[in-house]
Amino acid sequence: MSRSHRAERVTSASASPAKGTKARICDEPGCGTHLSIYNEFDFCAQHQPMVFPRLRGVILDP
Ligand SMILES: [Zn+2]
Repeated sequence: MSRSHRAERVTSASASPAKGTKARICDEPGCGTHLSIYNEFDFCAQHQPMVFPRLRGVILDP
């Protein structure tokens, strides 16, 4: 067997957090939705204060 264990995925939060990876949840009281590490906002998608209706990167002007 020459299988490497390097590709093993660890789901534990204690697994060496890279670049500020920390568990964040939505700031909306009572929500508790976990935010993606790619989500730069403090709210989940449903509670973001401002949501621009974007289509292909173009902000629609109603
Ligand atoms: Zn939320």
